[in-house]
Amino acid sequence: MLSYQHAYHAGNFADVHKHLTLHGVIDHLLRKDSSITYLDTHAGRGSYPLDASETSRLQEYREGVIPLWRARQGLAGEPLLGDWLAALARAQPDPSRLTHYPGSPWWMGHRLRRGDRQWLFELHPGEHGHLARLSFPGAVERIHGDGLEGLLQRLPVKTPRLCALIDPSYERKAEYLEVAQTVLAAMRKARHAVVLIWYPLLPAGRHRELLEALRDGGLRKVWYGEFSRRTPAHEEHGMYGSGMLVINPPWGLDERLAEAMAPVAERLGSPGRYRSGWWVEE
Ligand code: SAM
Repeated sequence: MLSYQHAYHAGNFADVHKHLTLHGVIDHLLRKDSSITYLDTHAGRGSYPLDASETSRLQEYREGVIPLWRARQGLAGEPLLGDWLAALARAQPDPSRLTHYPGSPWWMGHRLRRGDRQWLFELHPGEHGHLARLSFPGAVERIHGDGLEGLLQRLPVKTPRLCALIDPSYERKAEYLEVAQTVLAAMRKARHAVVLIWYPLLPAGRHRELLEALRDGGLRKVWYGEFSRRTPAHEEHGMYGSGMLVINPPWGLDERLAEAMAPVAERLGSPGRYRSGWWVEE
């Protein structure tokens, strides 16, 4: 069953949180010269024109990236967030107008250096087709296939460093545990990999199964950041927040993201709240 299409949700508050976290991690990784493999297990389309029929149907970007884009001049000096907004402008055909929201492949790959490479997995044939038509600079491979299986098959990697993003749609409840099992197996093959996992905050609280399975599986250095757009009591159905786990987070990430997310929570929340910390410490 593959009915989820990210185009309906592109640029929403969860994308902002996810891609800002990703941007913060990559910013740290690029401080060292040694090459990196970026692996995106659930890549999606890669780029989302805001006027596409799917994206303009729900217009979730109006409560996500748009308020930040409109305030970008005032936010330019904000740590990390200002830089993220400047990068977003560079992703536009006309940098003065926000017409496209870039997906995770762009946030991961737009700064690929010689020696770095990127592997993009996408299982949905239509979504993979969109991704295959995009042009990317650098060594980018697009694979029409299962990203969790692909992650395990491709480890260990030849580059000294690996950064993986796991961003499923969680259409099936079993996906929470499948992600946990895959990550536990992957970390046995690549102990130092930096792995980011996105999860939704839903009233049913299923993300706890994922978090607990990772902890019970013996993982160390698992950091989380959670952005609640509103308190769950106000929202009986649907996603009230967005969570990111980072395994082996770069040093200083917590402080940088806390600073960057404060103005985001203020502008996108009602009331918004951001909290972070170690889920499992070293
Ligand atoms: N990471 C993207 C971004 O941030 O721009 C969004 C990805 S979206 C949440 C999830 C994507 O995973 C969908 O495009 C879906 O078709 C795809 N997908 C679902 N199951 C998959 C699997 N087992 N392997 C690879 N892709 C899968």
